[in-house]
Amino acid sequence: MTQRYLVLFLVLLVLLSRANGQQTQTGLSCGTDPYVAQRIEADSAYRAFVLATRSTPTEKVDNETLYRIPVVFVVYHVGEAIGTGSNVSDADLSYQLDLLNRRYAGVAPFNSPNSNIQFELAKRTPGCAPFGGILRINASGVPNYSNQGVTSHDVGTALANSFPDYPNKMFDNFLVIRVVNTISFASGYALINGGNVFVNATGMKDRSDGNFLLAHEVGHVLSLFHTFYGSQLQSNYTFSCPANANPNTEGDYVADTDPHKEGNSGFCSPGYVNTCTGQPFGNLVYNNMNYSCGSVFSAGQVTRMRAFLQTSYPTLANNIYLTTPSSAEALKPISCQVGVGLTSSVGYRKGIQHVQFEQINRQSGDSPHNDGYYQDFSCSNKTDVVMGQSYQLSITALYTYAYRQVYIDFDNNGVFDEATERVVGSTVYGGTSVHTINFPTISTTGTYLRMRILVDEGNTPPTACYLPGNAAYGAGQVEDYAVRILSTAPPVCVLNTTLRSGLWTDPAVWSCGSVPTPADPVSIGHAITIPAGQAVCALHIHFNTGGRIVYEPMGKLSQGQ
Ligand SMILES: [Zn+2]
Repeated sequence: MTQRYLVLFLVLLVLLSRANGQQTQTGLSCGTDPYVAQRIEADSAYRAFVLATRSTPTEKVDNETLYRIPVVFVVYHVGEAIGTGSNVSDADLSYQLDLLNRRYAGVAPFNSPNSNIQFELAKRTPGCAPFGGILRINASGVPNYSNQGVTSHDVGTALANSFPDYPNKMFDNFLVIRVVNTISFASGYALINGGNVFVNATGMKDRSDGNFLLAHEVGHVLSLFHTFYGSQLQSNYTFSCPANANPNTEGDYVADTDPHKEGNSGFCSPGYVNTCTGQPFGNLVYNNMNYSCGSVFSAGQVTRMRAFLQTSYPTLANNIYLTTPSSAEALKPISCQVGVGLTSSVGYRKGIQHVQFEQINRQSGDSPHNDGYYQDFSCSNKTDVVMGQSYQLSITALYTYAYRQVYIDFDNNGVFDEATERVVGSTVYGGTSVHTINFPTISTTGTYLRMRILVDEGNTPPTACYLPGNAAYGAGQVEDYAVRILSTAPPVCVLNTTLRSGLWTDPAVWSCGSVPTPADPVSIGHAITIPAGQAVCALHIHFNTGGRIVYEPMGKLSQGQ
């Protein structure tokens, strides 16, 4: 929406709300559409993902599983005390999370279908440290941030990547909500299909029920487009009606939201005529993905969000970031910060795309500019190996011909020793490369050790904490994983049998010492509870005397592979 239309629209919104005697509600302006267009242009992997998930799915959508999504707030303040100015208080952020949950549950006054999607503060960092879910960063040292805030999508991306704890990533295990002091062109924006969210601090301090900024932006992350998506600005400065001959593949890809023009959103009045259909707007004026009076999601939008979580983005909900890590899970941090030499302002895909190593199998955003130079997967991606044996590690970096190096902190002292702990390097490779890693006899068995993988196209070899980069394409990328070296191979478990009553999800309940996988035959001789909202699996189940399964609400069991 242009500035001129935005002002006109907001004035009309206020006038109409008053004329109807309603409580004035918040309108918003959203910078998502140009952000998505820019990323589609620059990133072929993202473009393919958006195209693949564009049509509303026709396969059976599970409406029962409760999706719990971990949320991280990153507050980029300018040095104020907590609770002042852009340094939004914990209480305000908790209020926004609660408001988000009430909107997604559809409770009064929102009166929307219950999506069964809820949001909780994350309880651990990517490095496995206990975490409250709110990170505060003093960004006053970032040039122009204090006085201008975020003035373009690129400025927002650079801000996120300048603090490496939570860089921009396309695929991840939690929702990142970046609270910034101001956004010059919108109240907020998000990347459709799993990107992070940028919102202004004002929106996070607004406790009115009419504030739908976060619900709207999170809707984008969960694959929802604006209800007017496809409406184009024409040469006579009016907007067109979106094509909608097939509502599953055109417009906003949702069948029960009528097409309408951007800027013609019903002005909070259900009786207002939608010029694209000739019919009154009805409930569409209250839609969270419209620009005014957001209150509800349609049933079709709820189905679309749930289908997205079920099939396209299954790692986002119900994962380990909802639980506090035990001390045994935490890895020793590395004492040096990752530094980069030459950088690029263009999103060249010079980073790591895929890593496979025993139980580790991880795809990740490979544009250092868009996805960050450092990605820490050491808490979520781990594997076991056996001392004295050799294993194959595969690294894919399709668009680079570069140094590839791998380190393991064998003595777990927080330093990667270039002479003794570099297990791959310093040779140049392209595409997918496979490396053999030998695991020596060491004393730090049974502990998760940090493994670092890096690629860089610099003129000189990188070190464990420094990517030199080159003038044309900038620097590459670093990713951390976890490896535990066992002194002997664990026995192969042929039947996973219950040892006592308890939770299905508790490894101590099972004879194999691990929760059954889809490949495990299972024998149950006790009362085993499937926790609320959890989906568990087994190859097949044999019941012994006294064996039974207790289902908590929305607990689910599937059998077979
Ligand atoms: Zn939007």
